[in-house]
Amino acid sequence: MFEAILIEKNETGQTARLTNVGEHALPEGDVTVRVAWSTLNYKDALAITGKAPVVRRFPMIPGIDLAGVIEASDHPNWKPGDKVVLNGWGVGETHWGGLAQKARLKGEWLVPLESAFSMAQAMAIGTAGYTAMLCIMALEKHGVTPGDGPVLVTGAAGGVGSIAVALLSKLGHEVVAVTGRPEEVDYLKGLGASDILPRSRFSEPGRPLGREQWAGAVDVAGGPVLANVCASMRYRGTVAACGLAAGMSLPATVAPFILRGVTLAGIDSVMCPQPERREAWRRLGKDLDPTILDGLCETVTLAECIPAASRLLAGQVRGRVIVPLDGT
Ligand code: NAP
Repeated sequence: MFEAILIEKNETGQTARLTNVGEHALPEGDVTVRVAWSTLNYKDALAITGKAPVVRRFPMIPGIDLAGVIEASDHPNWKPGDKVVLNGWGVGETHWGGLAQKARLKGEWLVPLESAFSMAQAMAIGTAGYTAMLCIMALEKHGVTPGDGPVLVTGAAGGVGSIAVALLSKLGHEVVAVTGRPEEVDYLKGLGASDILPRSRFSEPGRPLGREQWAGAVDVAGGPVLANVCASMRYRGTVAACGLAAGMSLPATVAPFILRGVTLAGIDSVMCPQPERREAWRRLGKDLDPTILDGLCETVTLAECIPAASRLLAGQVRGRVIVPLDGT
């Protein structure tokens, strides 16, 4: 038996509880992992609370991320004792996930734990941090380099935003952070933001084109925030869009794209091909100072994930939430 968060659904709705699950119930897969640490991402919070239809199959163990040790493997790349990380691939949505002491997975989904990080640190980064790195790689691919001008990060006090601010600053960019939480100004400056702007400046419908300000941007918000970010990009700037914290809509015009040559780069971490995700983790190992992770993490028990999910969706969590499963 192992402990897990289990989401079940019946006629009256869905419930999430901490329970014991038998190993015989684990889904099919060619590797079995003893999970050491997991984490709570925005998508996990949506799954646990049922606020959006993230879970496609019930009962479901949520958790789109895990770090752990291979216990058994029929996959040629992995042997017992290997330390691995999993992000995405529909795990925690259609396949039982990481908020459990055991997981059975496809070996082809896994990446090796970067030597720069402990398993707890890998989960402090998690899908949020790996997505932040994918966003930065997209900005680089489109030619945004330090010295070009300020790079804007929205939702800066959240998981993706915090790590994006830290990474961009370490890489030598001038970082401007957008937050709805003025009390987090010192935190964001500590991560390397040189200026902080209030979220309210981006939240209302704006003009098709504004003053040219940002050489690059990482947007976790979508909705009017993303529209206003696009409208204030410099000529040939790039926006990496990865989130919908402000909504699914994009109430924008084509003006920034056809008059200023702005690029809107879409970022998906879930099905990202292996070479790119391994490169993102390699870059995190090189470009992220692991000592900052302690200051941007909160540790909760497996049972505490359920109330923490509601806090996260209410915007009351700063940075990242990590979950010890076997304490190593
Ligand atoms: P998070 O820790 O909850 O952070 C989200 C942040 O967005 C909040 O902390 C808040 O930052 C800001 N925010 C909340 N409501 C907002 C609103 N109405 N308007 C503008 N900003 C708002 O979540 P996360 O893990 O960083 O994820 C952020 C987003 O990226 C989510 O939508 C998530 O689904 C998405 N995501 C996508 C991928 C992908 O593969 N595309 C991967 C990971 C995450 P402030 O308090 O600082 O304003």
